[in-house]
Amino acid sequence: MTAGLAATAVTSAAGYGLTPASVRPSAGTGAAGDVLLGIAGLDVSYARRSGGRSGPGPGGDQRVLAGVGLTVRAGEIVGIIGETGSGKTTLARAAVGLVRPDAGQITCAGHDLTRLRPRRLREFRRSGRVQYMFQDPLRSQDPELTVRRIVAEPLAAAGMPDRRVRDERADAALALAGLDPKLLGDRMPAQISGGQRQRVSLARALVTRPALLITDEPVSALDASNRNLVLRLLDRLRTELGLAVVVISHDLSSLAGIADRVAVLYRGRLVEQGAVSQVLERPAHPYTALLTASAPRVRDSGEPAGPRPADLRPPRDREPWPEDQGCVFAPRCRFADATCRTEPALLPVPGAAPGAAPGSGSAETAVPRDVACHHAGEWRQTLAPGPAPDTAAAPGTGTGTGADTGTDTGTGTDTGAGPDTNTDDRPETS
Ligand code: SF4
Repeated sequence: MTAGLAATAVTSAAGYGLTPASVRPSAGTGAAGDVLLGIAGLDVSYARRSGGRSGPGPGGDQRVLAGVGLTVRAGEIVGIIGETGSGKTTLARAAVGLVRPDAGQITCAGHDLTRLRPRRLREFRRSGRVQYMFQDPLRSQDPELTVRRIVAEPLAAAGMPDRRVRDERADAALALAGLDPKLLGDRMPAQISGGQRQRVSLARALVTRPALLITDEPVSALDASNRNLVLRLLDRLRTELGLAVVVISHDLSSLAGIADRVAVLYRGRLVEQGAVSQVLERPAHPYTALLTASAPRVRDSGEPAGPRPADLRPPRDREPWPEDQGCVFAPRCRFADATCRTEPALLPVPGAAPGAAPGSGSAETAVPRDVACHHAGEWRQTLAPGPAPDTAAAPGTGTGTGADTGTDTGTGTDTGAGPDTNTDDRPETS
């Protein structure tokens, strides 16, 4: 993060009474290295639709997550990647108590969500100690409310009675997100740009001073300058406030810029996790390799480019892999053999040293480097050496590049791509 943005945002935030000290999470959460989110053995399934209605269908329930585990510590940014239908959004929703799991344990900011009764679970969600930033700000913001009221809503839900104090806190959160509350606070969502709406969502998520923030595609609808601003703000908040952040994203280059660790999901299974530099630059799982090979180079590390997508796909004439047998990735995996008819466990990557501990006040523990593949230590050697793949240069990543746009004071036009229409998983059902 450049000093320019930090200085601008801090100055603006301090002007509205919001300084790093004043937004620090409440005592008992957020100390550097504290585990804020612990997920173990998580199974989630949804009822299949039958005859156009939601309910158990003839095939039984659809399993969306199977045995997933994840740990997130104060001051860490953890990315979750995977294609549509991989279970990313369901995992995030389960982490904040929006989805009831079939099995497993979810500990969030000191509460075992899997054991809380519904009323206690609602109280926990309303407390704002954990916030979920939705993917589509236009759908998650009430068009009848002003920006200030939208941002202040979680405080009212948490039981803060004084409207004047709520408005002050909302203005401070808007300033922290790089928006001028005097100019934008009384506008309606339709009167601001897409980039501003995304930052309004961020301000709303921060207004309760959460210890853990879960964001679903936080920058997918933003142009480059807004994307950089939001990513740098997240980076700054985790550094200065000890905020733990989970970022669900298709944008590997953005994650490469800010995340400490990354977890890779494929059809509801955690297939690889580790330090972001290790996972994205030298994937141990063939699926992660396919993801990174299909994206623009995420870091210009000086290392030779990895395999091309064509190197990783099975030959066209191979016998179809029997459905639901063994490794979940086998039907698409070039390296599948008889061994893969047994589902691989998530184990340390053979021969890999654990990743470096995250910086910026994060956990001082080594980052685990795990993969679920029988041939994790071998598949790369079977690839025939060939000419260097013709891959694009790395685009600007979340940190260290791009202009510092500082506080946004106008309505402006967001020239970024339209909202991401990813419909990962099923809608919330509980
Ligand atoms: S276990 Fe086998 S099928 Fe699965 S990813 Fe590894 S090599 Fe491919």
